[in-house]
Amino acid sequence: MDKLLNAGAQALRKAALNQEAKDFLLGNEVLFKTVRKAADRYIGGETLAETTEKVAQENKNGFKCSIEFMGENVKSEEEANEATAEFVNICQAIIDKNLFSTVSLDLSHIGLGISRDLGANNLNKICVAAATGNIEVIISAEGTDQTDHVIETYKNASKSHDNLAITLQAYLHRTQDDFQELIKEPGRIRIVKGAFETAEGLSIPRGELLNDTYLGYVDRLLSAQHKCSIATHHHQIQQEVKKLIDQYKPEKSFYEFESLYGIQTQQLTALKDEGYVTKMYFVYGREWYLYLCNRIAEYPMNLFQALADIVGAE
Ligand SMILES: Cc1cc2nc3c(=O)[nH]c(=O)nc-3n(C[C@H](O)[C@H](O)[C@H](O)COP(=O)(O)OP(=O)(O)OC[C@H]3O[C@@H](n4cnc5c(N)ncnc54)[C@H](O)[C@@H]3O)c2cc1C
Repeated sequence: MDKLLNAGAQALRKAALNQEAKDFLLGNEVLFKTVRKAADRYIGGETLAETTEKVAQENKNGFKCSIEFMGENVKSEEEANEATAEFVNICQAIIDKNLFSTVSLDLSHIGLGISRDLGANNLNKICVAAATGNIEVIISAEGTDQTDHVIETYKNASKSHDNLAITLQAYLHRTQDDFQELIKEPGRIRIVKGAFETAEGLSIPRGELLNDTYLGYVDRLLSAQHKCSIATHHHQIQQEVKKLIDQYKPEKSFYEFESLYGIQTQQLTALKDEGYVTKMYFVYGREWYLYLCNRIAEYPMNLFQALADIVGAE
């Protein structure tokens, strides 16, 4: 059974990156609309306007939010600058609509993969726009080929911006060292397990050791009263972190339980109802096909949810 699920997950990851399949989907209106029904549960929408409506609603429901314009690895300076302008628009929309939201981004989406200067300059523009509304900007963690550049860019930008935060992947062995360095910076550290395939020997597979490693980082952050985000859908880890929060009693602005919009929402809602700080991460844009495939691949049972969403079953 596990073998079959893994094979299905691998196939979905492949399908997500298959340009022919993507072009076919984008070019076929009926198929596009059908598959979009399955994506709707996980995305803010295709536009910022749709997303800010959902964010406003979730703020009313008591959740903090984060907004990301989806995309990564742009190939031209023009695309990087367009994405940067969109992130500046997000900041402005958060301010104009008085939303309780941060901004999340991949540095490769704003040009880091093209040149370090381009990525750094664009990040600077977004941080400046965000600072006018006291908005936190959270840098995502990408593939291991990018980790050095991402961390270096974060450290440099942190010298001029105090509204910047970073994501670290608990599954990477190198994170032990990165963590030691980055905990010296005041910016929030978001801990995730890690989503990318890595070369052999670079990462800890899903399992007890990774869960303990993840909890170890959270313990160190909470006990040091360092700003952090506990970004996982893992119920058992969330329950263990509750004990740490009750033990260390961090200020409310110093921690948050963060989940992707549409995933294990009932767990996040239960945490909110118990009085813990909770946050929903929204992504939006036209690239939802890849995002949908990834959400199903990481938890293949979601395929049944997708089928139910497409046919309109409860
Ligand atoms: C806010 C946020 C930001 C993130 N940013 C990054 C980043 O910058 N870089 C990066 O590499 N990764 C990022 N990730 C993804 C992360 O690395 C994991 O791949 C992802 O969160 C799944 O791992 P998990 O901790 O939920 O635990 P897992 O061990 O993968 O899953 C534990 C349990 O969580 C539930 N679950 C997990 N995924 C799903 C799903 N899709 N649908 C339904 N239930 C599910 C299931 O019950 C599962 O048994 C982010 C995740 C979150 C929540």
